[in-house]
Amino acid sequence: MDRYRVKQKSKINLKDHDPDDQSFFDAGKEAGRIHLKELNIDLMSLQNVLYAEHKHKILIVLQGMDTSGKDGTIKHVFLGVNPQGVRIANFKVPTSIELDHDYLWRVHHQVPGKGEITIFNRSHYEDLLVVRVHALVAKEIWSKRFSQINDFERLLSEEGTTVLKFFLHIDQDEQKKRLQARLDDPDKRWKFRKGDLEERKLWAQYILAYEDVLSKTSTPYAPWYIIPSNRKWYRNLVIGTILIDTLKKLEMRYPTPEDDLSGITIT
Ligand code: AMP
Ligand code: MG
Repeated sequence: MDRYRVKQKSKINLKDHDPDDQSFFDAGKEAGRIHLKELNIDLMSLQNVLYAEHKHKILIVLQGMDTSGKDGTIKHVFLGVNPQGVRIANFKVPTSIELDHDYLWRVHHQVPGKGEITIFNRSHYEDLLVVRVHALVAKEIWSKRFSQINDFERLLSEEGTTVLKFFLHIDQDEQKKRLQARLDDPDKRWKFRKGDLEERKLWAQYILAYEDVLSKTSTPYAPWYIIPSNRKWYRNLVIGTILIDTLKKLEMRYPTPEDDLSGITIT
């Protein structure tokens, strides 16, 4: 899965990354869906031992334009996983109390504890994306955040957190289709917000902000992956596979019971 990993300090131009790419799995959508079910089962058992071992902490960051599929990824990749050990943290427009603090204040206490997987649906990266595009703080302030975030993620990593960051890459045509579907489908209409159309006009500025984030904050301890996401099934497969490969490398074990259990009979 190295093909989608952003090398440290590489200059990312998203034009060089095809959101329609299918090079990792070319058997098509139906086969892809079947394969995802197998990945769901693998993830279930890996998460079980992660929880039992109570040692590793897994942080997954999901970022992408509106409609890029952050919610869909959570729904489909984590299907069947025991909710006991998985937590979702949604980062919305900061509250006034949050705005009174530094931007990492609301983030740090949401990071995973031992045995836990935490999924960030949006994240501290919004403070280099929406905040930059809308000039919500001055450039002198936000431009320092690349290195601050790298330092923060290094701290998490050195304290035992595995960090994976996924940028869900769609193109503007795909967003148009998905916004249209939200308008047309009564079950999706609740997701449509007029403000999304205003954000869509800022597409080019968002792309520049994302390219900067991807170029400057992919590190060996907290890598970014650029996920081709025009096809939802492919996006799910790639993210599921990267996650499972990463969990397998941790070589987790069920803990041995505290007491010697041999010879016990339950009456
Ligand atoms: P959604 O994820 O679609 O529910 O929308 C959440 C909204 O919160 C998005 O429009 C984000 O841009 C916005 N948001 C998240 N974090 C921040 C932040 N730090 N500053 C300003 N807006 C934010
Ligand atoms: Mg949204």
